[in-house]
Amino acid sequence: MKIRQEQIPENEFKRKYEQENVLEFGKYFTDRMFKINYRAGEWKDPRITKYGPLMLEPSAIALQYGQTIFEGQKAYRTKEGKLNLFRPELNVKRFNNSAKRMAMPEITPEIYLDSLKMLLDLERDWAPKKIGSSLYIRPTMIGTQGRLGVIPSDDYLFYIILSPVGPYFPEGFKPIKIWVSENYIRAAPGGTGYAKTGGNYAASLLIGQKALEQGYSQVLWLDAIHRKYVEEVGAMNIFFVYQDTLYTAPLDSGTILPGLTRESVIQMAKDFGYSIKEEALSMDDIVAGTKDGSLQECFGAGTAASIAPVGCLRYQGQEHIINNFQIGEMTQKIYDQLIGIQYGMIDDSYGWIVSV
Ligand SMILES: *Cc1c(COP(=O)(O)O)cnc(C)c1O
Repeated sequence: MKIRQEQIPENEFKRKYEQENVLEFGKYFTDRMFKINYRAGEWKDPRITKYGPLMLEPSAIALQYGQTIFEGQKAYRTKEGKLNLFRPELNVKRFNNSAKRMAMPEITPEIYLDSLKMLLDLERDWAPKKIGSSLYIRPTMIGTQGRLGVIPSDDYLFYIILSPVGPYFPEGFKPIKIWVSENYIRAAPGGTGYAKTGGNYAASLLIGQKALEQGYSQVLWLDAIHRKYVEEVGAMNIFFVYQDTLYTAPLDSGTILPGLTRESVIQMAKDFGYSIKEEALSMDDIVAGTKDGSLQECFGAGTAASIAPVGCLRYQGQEHIINNFQIGEMTQKIYDQLIGIQYGMIDDSYGWIVSV
């Protein structure tokens, strides 16, 4: 694929962000972005342009009806200056699953990955050096046709933007407090829960804001039907440790976003000798587990926050404390191995890394 390149002046933000101690998540963007259009059934004109505003019809289907999808990945800078991608082929696969659900065209792995690698190579200097910091990657597809009919767009724009980021939670790798949502749900069977599509996140903003106001970092979602089984926490999958068993919600309801961190955690935990149960776990069982101490650890897992230990669940007006608000042994082990592989500090025996 031949990618056209515009001449781009260096961005002043680069110098500004370097002076900051803690990089705020998603605040800065690199100089360049990748774009390609879909018209008359074909992907056309791949190009790298200056990062900047898009020209869109006010009637664009993405804006009116939310025909949008995205991915979330990171490039981790190694000591040697390489940029490590973590299982990027799984992001392409999931992106195309999201596309299918939203009646959008699929993109080829070549377009997605070749353009990403080229963009990363050009923007290499933007990647922060600190462990825990990275270059966050946001591939996006939007329906660009201007028309007020509720049918899929004929035209699309696929683009990739990059954002140098620090830790997702300002507190870093420390236990967070979680608000269990009792009145609002994220996804229902038959809905769009398994797709990374804007509307899922729009629907989460109100309760997320309420939780933050009360001092909780994220919302834990319960299932839509019984309102008792745990599904996800914010934009992370959730795990519970009972002795040598690791529990997480199963994917078959279609209400859970199939995280590639989730899949990787399951693989590592198996190799650490844990038994894995992908089973529905009810809030009643979890509360009982915090009372009798059988629930030893809880953590969220996702690309943005990597592994986030959970120290407290607020449910039915009460705070339930997990592991004395300390990081658990299993949580720490998983975190160390994951971060170690991603930043190239330990051997990638799984073959998960693609270096640029
Ligand atoms: C992206 C996301 C995840 C985590 O997926 P990863 O591939 O591990 O980053 C989990 N839940 C939701 C709702 C998400 O949007």
